[in-house]
Amino acid sequence: MQTQKLFYEDCHLRSFSAKVTACTPAEGGFAVELDRTAFYPEGGGQACDTGMLGGVKVLSVREKEDRILHLCDGPLGPGQTVVGQIHWERRFDQMQQHAGEHIVSGIINARYGYHNVGFHVGADTVTIDFDGMIPPEALEEIEWAANRVVWQNLSVRCWYPSREELPGVAYRSKKALPWPVRIVQIPGVDSCACCGIHVEQTGEIGIVKLLSCVKFHQGVRIEMACGGRALKFLQKIYEQNRQVSQAFSAKVLETGEAARKMNETLAAEKFRSAALEKQVFDSIAAGFAGAGDVLYFAEALTSNGVRELADRMASQCGGTAAVFSGGDETGYSVCLVNKQGDVKELGQKMSSALQGRGGGKPGFFQGSVRAPREKIEAFFKEAVK
Ligand SMILES: [Zn+2]
Repeated sequence: MQTQKLFYEDCHLRSFSAKVTACTPAEGGFAVELDRTAFYPEGGGQACDTGMLGGVKVLSVREKEDRILHLCDGPLGPGQTVVGQIHWERRFDQMQQHAGEHIVSGIINARYGYHNVGFHVGADTVTIDFDGMIPPEALEEIEWAANRVVWQNLSVRCWYPSREELPGVAYRSKKALPWPVRIVQIPGVDSCACCGIHVEQTGEIGIVKLLSCVKFHQGVRIEMACGGRALKFLQKIYEQNRQVSQAFSAKVLETGEAARKMNETLAAEKFRSAALEKQVFDSIAAGFAGAGDVLYFAEALTSNGVRELADRMASQCGGTAAVFSGGDETGYSVCLVNKQGDVKELGQKMSSALQGRGGGKPGFFQGSVRAPREKIEAFFKEAVK
């Protein structure tokens, strides 16, 4: 039996009563049919409603021909009159996103002639795909235009035009659809064939926030959030920015500039410390001139620093320079260099004796070891005689 679609008659209907017309076991529960329902089945890019029905949970809803099947976690007796209660927060969120999508698609269609070729409601945001390029700098103005439509609080009109009326109704669609067609119109903004549920007045959307616009296939993918989703997203962004503002001691609207300055300062500091490090390495290396094989532990060097120092030291000492930096707890970074000889074998022996790893070429070995300083010293005392 055809189910009466209460959700099309009143999109704000949260609770209703209906008669159970059928109930059959189905995968994951029981498929319950009603004579009328406010539960929207999935369709048109919109998720189905969930909620409660006669004391059992409605897990999902789908439409099969003209019948609407409610997958419930328990059985309901046919003939019984039951009360249905839809999960309103979930539904209203879908209505906000869907109506916001119509506004943005309508504005873009009017300005560029592009069509919405994909719509997806994700966990936190919504994406719309268009079949043409939109310059990123146009986003801000599109966003203003969309929000002006929200503030005008326009009535959203949804109806099925008669056979005679339909050919005269202009609507956004890639192909002509056979009658009957449900038209969703936001006056002066958008006219579209759609089976989803939308807000009644555009003011209910609250806010339309565009988040990004990236190239996608032959066009772009716009990511956005409307209403409650937009608020949640902006709250998170604000909290992140508040933390950045605190960390940089910058005003909340000047964090970008503060981050840029910090990056510049860091780059200059890196440059300065690299130059200082080289001077220090040269003077350490000079202290080992002609010393032969050298084992040296340096404080807090990066692996690049370890390599630089070992290289400079080997040029001075005339033997094998073994430079370590790190700690007994964390392990050591190591580099072995010999300007005339081969350190490959020494590197391999060291790796197996000191739980190490690494590699290199004949006069050069770099890696790390997991052994305390005492053990490293003992190994070299033994290995390099
Ligand atoms: Zn729609």
